[in-house]
Amino acid sequence: MAKAPAHAFASTLKTFKTASGKSGKYWSLKELAKQYPTIDRLPVSIRIVLESVLRNCDGQKVSAKHVEELAHWAPNAERTDEIPFVVTRVVLQDFTGVPLLADLAAMRSVAAKLGKSPKTIEPLVPVDLVVDHSVMVDYYGTPKALDLNMKLEFQRNNERYQFMKWGMQAFDTFRVVPPGFGIVHQVNLEYFARGVYKSPGDANDVPTYYPDSLVGTDSHTTMINGIGVVGWGVGGIEAEAAMLGQPVYMLTPDVVGFELTGKLREGVTATDLVLYVTAILRAEKVVGKFVEFFGPGAASIAVPDRATIGNMAPEYGATMGFFPVDDMTVAYFEGTGRTKEEVERFAAYYKAQGLYGMPNPGDIDYTKIVRLDLGTVSPSLAGPKRPQDRIDLGHLATKFSELYSKPNEANGFNQPADKLKLRYPLSVNGVRGDDEAAAPPPGAPRDVVEMVANRSTHAAAHTSATAPPAPKGEVTIGNGDVLIAAITSCTNTSNPSVMLAAGLLAKKAVEAGLTVKPHVKTSLAPGSRIVTEYLEKAGLLPYLEKLGFYLAGYGCTTCIGNAGDLTPEINEAITKNDLIGAAVLSGNRNFEARIHPNLKANFLASPPLVVAFAIAGNVMTDLMTEPVGKGRNGKDVYLGDIWPTPKEIDENLRYAMNAKSFRENYDKVKTDPGKFWSSIEGTNGQVYDWPKSTYIAEPPFFEGFRMTPHASDAGFKGARVMALFGDSITTDHISPAGSIKESSPAGIWLKAHGVAKADFNSYGSRRGNHDVMMRGTFANVRIKNLMIPPDANGTQEEGGVTLFQPGNEKMFIYDAAMKYMAQGVPTVVFGGEEYGTGSSRDWAAKGTQLLGIKAVVARSFERIHRANLVGMGVLPLQFRGADSWQTLGLTGDEKIDVVIGSELKPQMDVKLVVHRADDTHQEVTVRLRIDTPIEVDYYKHGGILPFVLRQLLE
Ligand code: SF4
Repeated sequence: MAKAPAHAFASTLKTFKTASGKSGKYWSLKELAKQYPTIDRLPVSIRIVLESVLRNCDGQKVSAKHVEELAHWAPNAERTDEIPFVVTRVVLQDFTGVPLLADLAAMRSVAAKLGKSPKTIEPLVPVDLVVDHSVMVDYYGTPKALDLNMKLEFQRNNERYQFMKWGMQAFDTFRVVPPGFGIVHQVNLEYFARGVYKSPGDANDVPTYYPDSLVGTDSHTTMINGIGVVGWGVGGIEAEAAMLGQPVYMLTPDVVGFELTGKLREGVTATDLVLYVTAILRAEKVVGKFVEFFGPGAASIAVPDRATIGNMAPEYGATMGFFPVDDMTVAYFEGTGRTKEEVERFAAYYKAQGLYGMPNPGDIDYTKIVRLDLGTVSPSLAGPKRPQDRIDLGHLATKFSELYSKPNEANGFNQPADKLKLRYPLSVNGVRGDDEAAAPPPGAPRDVVEMVANRSTHAAAHTSATAPPAPKGEVTIGNGDVLIAAITSCTNTSNPSVMLAAGLLAKKAVEAGLTVKPHVKTSLAPGSRIVTEYLEKAGLLPYLEKLGFYLAGYGCTTCIGNAGDLTPEINEAITKNDLIGAAVLSGNRNFEARIHPNLKANFLASPPLVVAFAIAGNVMTDLMTEPVGKGRNGKDVYLGDIWPTPKEIDENLRYAMNAKSFRENYDKVKTDPGKFWSSIEGTNGQVYDWPKSTYIAEPPFFEGFRMTPHASDAGFKGARVMALFGDSITTDHISPAGSIKESSPAGIWLKAHGVAKADFNSYGSRRGNHDVMMRGTFANVRIKNLMIPPDANGTQEEGGVTLFQPGNEKMFIYDAAMKYMAQGVPTVVFGGEEYGTGSSRDWAAKGTQLLGIKAVVARSFERIHRANLVGMGVLPLQFRGADSWQTLGLTGDEKIDVVIGSELKPQMDVKLVVHRADDTHQEVTVRLRIDTPIEVDYYKHGGILPFVLRQLLE
């Protein structure tokens, strides 16, 4: 057997000792710094990535050159080097996790068909999936809400959950946290993250330790940066490669240092701080960069506050918002139930590496430094349409009034100013806080109806609070009324100080005799059970409940747009009167229609402000000068009267950091996963049997798979043009996530398979079924294929249609794709600038491939989508200079050749030959956007999945 080559930096493998005297090995950055002295001044986050590159330097996937390049990271160098980053683990949420599991299951089926052991296909790093994205707030304002919402969730998602159960027993390294435990990023903080990880021991049984790092298939994976873990969100294809042992490739980043000084003032919350940070960093344009916090202010803020800031990295555009490990991080590990051994090892490892402690000004060379004095932060909200649009609390009322009649281009609502204060009568009987509120939503299954009727209320257990009941009867509704008030999102629910502040404010409000306005849909959806446990122990939960904030679910709910519907009366009042209704939520995104299709003004705010605005009922109430409401005996109650003091919050924090509670709670993932989950019956076996389902189906990516790849670097000829797109085609244009139209190819297919319109669910929830997803590719109702001539008024038709050639017959892109494929005709898509922009969505590339599209030719590509296209075996080709499909005069009836000529090489020139209908032809040179040698291999293998599968089966 050939001997493995010696590690190029073998001398950097050293030993460290924990406080209890246990030994471990580690790849020492200090030792490496003897060769590359600038390492000591590198940003901490870069040094952690460097450790991974050093440790995984095998001369194949990771070379000595990679180590050298990263060790030479300079603050302001040109960024051309790619880093192969091998991560420690992968986390998934259920929307993105199901298709990924389907791919793994399909690989197992291939292995079995080829007579190999299915067990060959096994994630090489730990993979954790949290089921958090599916619960909706159908029920609220009642003690029954949690059970009822979960019951509906399980009925809607039964087939997906059965599939997950199969995955749990089939893969050794794949864990699922069932619904009802929490939100992926909070569970990641509280439970998954174990500090440092180890590889098997040497001859003397001494293991080698290394830092935690990860990628997740959710953009807010960056929350984990708050505890010093390097990690961020990626698309499913990249995550799949990472779990099967491939490095995540990235361009060496700039690192912006964010120096925090001073101290937050009394009454200012972590949410206020993160809204400041978001506004500052958006203006600094940190897209694609690492942000690293440092300085005495960073050292002083609590770990949950750091996590809140890390969480919103996607909102400020950075790849990460990173806080180095220090004493506070270690204390957090202790308080959240990690074992003594884990905590000791964690601290000892980081100290040995010289990575322990919050850096001070001057310690590190950053690309740029941004500064904030924490003492200047004031209570804030952000909105009404974007998370970076921060508004001082005291300016909210005037801001809303101004925006009401400003034009859309100025971020306004374009309404006649004289309508601002008009109010309209509304019947709200049963809207909130009584048994009628528990009436099932329209179309709810029968046993839910029975459950509502039969279930004994446990509200009596929480009756110590004594506020009067919510008013019933005729009330009015108007502009700026708060119609949704949601304590939601891991961004804030993982943070005990703001959650306790919400509870304390609720207590004082109830005691003062305040109530919530009846038109407000109130919900409490914490990111883990720990939150309700400490709110209960602190005696605060009953007060939140008294104000309607009953537990609606442990999941994303309103944050992912699962706010559930408003009452028909409220919806009608909004649409009939063009009302600008508001939502106030403790989430991180507020784009139009994300929270609710009828709510145009959505404000992000801290949990206590969410409660305060639910009481005030309208965002035009200036909480800095006007009463929040009238309390007992008609007395005005101001925000200052009910706002908790830091001392009150501190006194209650002791309930939130109870190591035993954390351990007991997360032990239940195994021992007591819940009655609904326990009743799900998954199939057993190493290979999935793919029962008939409109949610889960065997993906066709490995049809005709054989161990030797087809030669695929010769280009292709005679391709037809599927679409001519303009600039900024997003992944949502290519593969929408939202509702499925009845008349669309996906809708037609679902109906043909016996699915009623009411049960279509969304594209997001059907990502485990390629039959739906490929029909949904390019099916966004707003996409414009410029091949279709505009109408007489110059209006361009919207929707996923094309002109089939020859003959110019208009049809759905999906139908045309099937016809071309049946005829063996390849197809191409043309785009403009930033093709594939928006959130990373692997189905945008998977769908493109399944429609038989061989190449996308564009002026420029979004980074992840370009990589995903290569990963699915689709050629990304980039126009050079000022060239575009417009300058070529393409109309869509041409035939296209892609001539590669010689051996495939990264970034090589490729010839595009355009054959026109009049028999003339034109040649243009384009740049192949296969950027790295490993991507050449992926492409030659037909994509990353067959590439990895071949490696595993060999
Ligand atoms: S709560 Fe919001 S931010 Fe957190 S995982 Fe869910 S959708 Fe993402």
